[in-house]
Amino acid sequence: MLEVRNLEVVYDDVMLVLRGVSLRVPPGSIVALLGANGAGKTTLLRALSGLLDVHDGEITKGGVTLEGEPIHRLRPAQIVRRGVSQVMEGRRILAELTVEENLKVGGHTAGTSHLDRVYGLFPLLRERRKSVSGYLSGGEQQMLAVGRALMAGPKYLLLDEPSLGLAPSLVGQVRDLIVEINRQGTTVLLVEQNATMALSIASHGYVMETGKIVMDKPARELLADEDIKEFYLGAV
Ligand code: ATP
Repeated sequence: MLEVRNLEVVYDDVMLVLRGVSLRVPPGSIVALLGANGAGKTTLLRALSGLLDVHDGEITKGGVTLEGEPIHRLRPAQIVRRGVSQVMEGRRILAELTVEENLKVGGHTAGTSHLDRVYGLFPLLRERRKSVSGYLSGGEQQMLAVGRALMAGPKYLLLDEPSLGLAPSLVGQVRDLIVEINRQGTTVLLVEQNATMALSIASHGYVMETGKIVMDKPARELLADEDIKEFYLGAV
């Protein structure tokens, strides 16, 4: 279980961005985290992957545990080694490296042992393995970013808006891939603006507003909720 308890996060010593957030990601599940821009979703993912420091963020209360062990004081590489990998919003691939070089960077802790799994999930990356990554399309770069995170062999995969900026036809492919990654044994925390997509594959969903969790329900109940329909499902 990956668990966030009563987490408070402050940026630049003053700006309180997470105000007592609690969330649970049970092993084997897909959990969706929804919320408007600026609600604090990316901040929560940064706290889970040890990336707050580089953004001048700090945990001022609460914490994060993985299988009962606190991980919020660990460095990002240590958290990856414990089995939690994040795919960043905006892809952040190394544009001047080839596809395979990018994947190998992601596998630095686990070597290349997961390369076949990644190429199995993304045959297109195998075809393009010698291409310079900067020339890939947006959708392909997104696949590469997911592939790179999987190279560490994570138990928990944190996805920050994987459907952002993709054509509607590609959103379905991303959804199917997340389902397949999960079926192969990886637990997924999915941050999405596309609530319909996220809730259609998640077992549980959380909704954040201005740094707080305001809803915490089974995904099918959120899909049927009138407020969610109005604020999120109508917007996609
Ligand atoms: P989005 O979907 O736009 O990424 P979000 O829900 O992920 O939104 P965050 O990116 O976590 O929200 O941002 C939450 C709040 O924290 C916002 O008000 C944002 O301006 C602020 N914030 C984010 N990063 C920093 C930072 N490095 N320094 C100061 N404030 C920040």
